[in-house]
Parts: sequence; structure tokens; C-alpha cells
Amino acid sequence: MWVRLVLCLCWVVLGSQGQDRASLRKSNDRNGRCQYSFTVESPDESSCPSPSPAGGPEFENLRARLTLLETVVSRVLGAEALTDVAKEAEEAQETKQLIQDKEQLDRQVQELRRRVEELTMETEKLRDRPCPLVQGVPIDGFGVIGGSSGPVIGRSFQELKAELSELPAPARVLENNHNNTGCGELTSIGEPETVQKADGITGKYGLWFQDPEATGQPYGPDTVWRINAVDVDVKQLYAYENLEQLGRGFPMKVLVLPESVESTGATVYRGSLYYQRKRSPTLLRFDLNSEKIMARRDLPHAGFHGKHPYSWGGYTDIDLAADEQGLWAIYSTDKARGAIVLAKLNPESLEVIRSWETNVRKNKVANAFMICGRLYTVASYSANTTTVNYTFDTASGNSKKLEVPFRNRYRYNSMIDYNHARKKLYAWDNFHMVTYDVKLGEI
Ligand code: CA
Repeated sequence: MWVRLVLCLCWVVLGSQGQDRASLRKSNDRNGRCQYSFTVESPDESSCPSPSPAGGPEFENLRARLTLLETVVSRVLGAEALTDVAKEAEEAQETKQLIQDKEQLDRQVQELRRRVEELTMETEKLRDRPCPLVQGVPIDGFGVIGGSSGPVIGRSFQELKAELSELPAPARVLENNHNNTGCGELTSIGEPETVQKADGITGKYGLWFQDPEATGQPYGPDTVWRINAVDVDVKQLYAYENLEQLGRGFPMKVLVLPESVESTGATVYRGSLYYQRKRSPTLLRFDLNSEKIMARRDLPHAGFHGKHPYSWGGYTDIDLAADEQGLWAIYSTDKARGAIVLAKLNPESLEVIRSWETNVRKNKVANAFMICGRLYTVASYSANTTTVNYTFDTASGNSKKLEVPFRNRYRYNSMIDYNHARKKLYAWDNFHMVTYDVKLGEI
């Protein structure tokens, strides 16, 4: 009895536990036949080493497809990401290349502009300097220019330019020289023509010239020389190829003078710059080709550094000038008591050949210049309308008053110099470089 009771209790207990851990499963096999499966969990194993009941063929299939899908999605996303990175890199490279191309094009544009400007200047120069042809020599592309041999075709522009620069002075200048051999008294002065304006404070006063008797290369009659006179030590001499280049403001060379210039009384003549050494009565001849001082000499008894200046001051004690008859010095001495003394100089040695004392006080006139051995003085440096008011003839020793109208357009004229090859006055009027045409009467 007790044994049967215990067995019944064990069956009940085990049965109640077995209800949670055992299951009966009904399904069709692969052949479609009904199949019953009775499953009991093992109390010793928490999981099955083989695929779980949920990992059936469908589950495995689904999981495989899911894995495949994940792989595909991953590849697609990865590919897209890589594509984006590649595109960004490619765009960056293209941007960099475009910037480089733009910089290169900018440089090419600048270079082309410079070349156009140079060619324009060369064209103007060549237009102004016609090539004199040798009579009877053909110029047909295989002939010769100026007597030199060799075909024109194949020679560089620089070679042609060099040949042109070796030609004699242009006919226009030679014609002026010829005309100027007929000297006469000054009868009229034209309106000032502005060539250039200085762009710095050092250019308020200054001096500029073209050599009326240029001796050769590299500096010819077209070369323009310029000195800005406002500085502690004035030593820079600017050379411009011609007036057009001066107008554009591009010097071809800057020469450094070995000794400082005093004031605005220098001049250029026969390939040399003649000037007064600073704070001294010493005259210097600076050869423009060799860039050396070729002569120096004190101007006897000459006042300097503010003792006998022109009316505007500026230490304009010694004014050098060239004309058809040679080189001159306009200055004063204590003996002359401030009256203008005129000396004719040897252009090689700077010795005084002869001197004259006039009866016009130097500090009462604005400036002076020489034409055909005659001294002319300008009454005012600042009046808009003034006159050339006095002349002294070294040939006769006579002087007289004049009233030839003269205009200071910019009202502060610090330098006036005559160029007998071009029959023009060169002046520096309050930052402005100007020229005046002059007319001479009959002898
Ligand atoms: Ca002068």
C-alpha cells in the first residue's frame, strides 16, 4: 500500500515537472507523411550543441539570407562611402589644378601685357627713328640694312634693334642742329608742355635734360636724364630711353653719382653730366658712359651754398648751361657784389676760358639760360605770367631789357635749361617736367 502511494506521488511530481520540459510535436516529413516527435529536455544540459529547435532549416536558411543581405548592404554602403571619398578627393584635385591653371594664366597675362607695352614702345621708337637706307642696296628681306651684310630674315629683333641703335643721330635732330646754326635773338616762348609729373616729395624740385650733342651709345640724343633734387644727398641720376618712357615713369637705368649734387644747376652736354659738388664751388664732369668723374675744378671766386642764389633760393648759386657755342657757368662773386657773372668753360677740363660781369643781380631773377652765346633771365619763378626780362650778349658785351612772355603754369619753377638741338627750354615747375618751344629772330 505505502509503496503504491509513493510511486503515485513520484509519478505526479515527475509528471508535473515533465509537462514543462517535454513536448509532443506533430509535423510532416519531407515525404509528406505525418511524423510525431516527443522531446524532453535534458536536465544536465542547458543548451544543445546542435542547432536549437529554432535553428531549423528555415531558420538556417533565413539566417543565411540575412547574412548575405547584411553583406550586400555592407558592401553597398562601403562602396558608397568610398565613392564619396573618391569624389571629394577628385574635386579637391580639380580645384587645386584650376587654381594652378588660373595662376599660370595670370602670369601669362602679365607677361603678355609687359611684352605688349615693350613692343608698343619699340614701335614708337622705330617710328620716330626711320632707318636711312643705303642708296642702291635692296631691302627686300634678303638685302642689307645700313650697309651691314646678312639676310634680314632669321635675324632677331634684338639684332635689328642693335643695328638701328648704331645708326647716326636721327634726321630730325640733325635738322634741328642745322637750323640752330643760324642763331638769333629770342623772340617768343611757347606755352609749357607737360611731359611728366614727379610722384614723390623728392620731386618738388629737380632737373632734367636731353643731351643736345650726344656722343654715342648707349645714350643717344633721345635719352632723358633726370635728378630729383629734394634729398639730403642727391646722387641718383635716372636715365630714360626717351620722352615716352619718361612719361610712363620707367627708367632704363639709375646711375649713382660718386659725389652729391648741389641744387638744380647741372646740365648734360656731349656725353657728360656737369654739376656743382655739394657745399663747394667745385665743378665736376661725370662721364655718362664710364660713370666716372673725368674732370673737377673750382670755379674761381664763385659763391656757393646760398651766398648768391636765384630769387627762389635753393642753393642755386652756380648754374651750368650749354648752347650752340659751348659750356657756360652762371654765378656771382663777392667782387661782382651779387651781379651775375658769366664764364665760358672748357668742356674737357672745366677751365674758365673767359668771363663777363653783367649788371643784373642774381638774386633778383628766377633763373637763367643761354642761347647762342646770349644770357637770358626770367623775372619770376612763381607768377603764372611773367617775362624773360633781360639779355646779355657775350659777343658784343651789351645787355638790354626784354619783355618776352613766359608762363609758370605750376607756379614754382626751380630749373630752366635750353636744348639747342631741339630748340626747346626744359623746366621743372613744382613737380612737373615741362618743355617750351622757343623762336629766334634773324641774326
Ligand atoms: Ca638754368
